[in-house]
Amino acid sequence: MKYIGAHVSASGGVYNAPLNAHQINATAFALFTKNQRQWHAKPLESKTIDQFRLNCEKYHFHSKQILPHDSYLINLGHPDKEQLEKSRSAFLDEFQRCEQLGLTLLNFHPGSDLRQISVDDCLARIAQSINITLEKTQNVVAVIENTAGQGSNLGYKFEHLAQIIDQVEDKSRVGVCIDTCHAFAAGYDLRTKKACDETFAEFDKIVGFKYLRAMHLNDAKSELASHVDRHDSLGKGNIGKTAFEYIMQDPRIDEIPLILETINPDIWADEIAWLKSLHK
Ligand SMILES: [Zn+2]
Ligand SMILES: [Zn+2]
Repeated sequence: MKYIGAHVSASGGVYNAPLNAHQINATAFALFTKNQRQWHAKPLESKTIDQFRLNCEKYHFHSKQILPHDSYLINLGHPDKEQLEKSRSAFLDEFQRCEQLGLTLLNFHPGSDLRQISVDDCLARIAQSINITLEKTQNVVAVIENTAGQGSNLGYKFEHLAQIIDQVEDKSRVGVCIDTCHAFAAGYDLRTKKACDETFAEFDKIVGFKYLRAMHLNDAKSELASHVDRHDSLGKGNIGKTAFEYIMQDPRIDEIPLILETINPDIWADEIAWLKSLHK
C-alpha cells in the first residue's frame, strides 16, 4: 500500500488538515500542530482534539498515514546550553501535542552546529535531545529528516542520520524521512533508474530501509550537490519524473506516508493522481 498526500494547511484548527487532505484525494498528510514560526502555542483544547480525531476517522486517516512536522525554530544540536534547553522543551511540547492527537510520528530537521562546535558534538547533542524526549513520552517515533546541507544544517549525509540513530537508546522509536529534493541538493543523484538504484543502495547500507518511516516527494529547482533547498513541482525540476516512478514501484517504500511539499498547492490533486497512477 502507498500512502500519498501533501503538507496541508491546518489554519483555523488542526481538525481542518484531514479535511484539506481529503479534498485533494490524499491517503496521507503532513501538518504543523502549532504555528511553525513561533516558540509558544496555547495548549490544544479537548474539543479541538476530539474534532481532529473524528475527522481523521471520517476520512480514513490512520496515524501511520499522518506525518506532523515540528517548528522550524527548534535546533536540537544547539551549541549554546540555554538555547539547547529552549529547543528541547519546545520539542517535548511538540511530542506531547502528537500524543494528545493520537499521532505516532514526528518529523523534524536534525539541527545545526552554527559552525561553533564539531559535527560529532552536534550529532551527539541531537541524539541526546531525542533520548531525553523519548524517555518522557510514549508511542511517538522521532523521524529525522535528511537536509540539503544549507548553511550549517547537519543531516545532509546518510552517515549523519546513522550516527544519530546509533546514539539513540530506543531504536524502536527512531526513524528517518528522506526528502528527495534535499537528497539531490546534498549530492545524491536520482535522475536515472541507475542513479536511484545506487542512491537507495547507499541509503540501505548506511541507514537501512527498516528506519525509513516517511518520505517527502519534491522535485528540485536547485542543482545536484548545490546544498540549496529549493523545491519544485514533480517532473518540472532537475530531478525529473524517473525518481518518482521508481519510488512508486519500489516495495521497500510501502506503508509509509509519502508527502508532497511541492511549490504549487493548486496542482497537488493532479500530482497525487499522477503518483497513484504509477503504483502498479
Ligand atoms: Zn522536506
Ligand atoms: Zn526543503
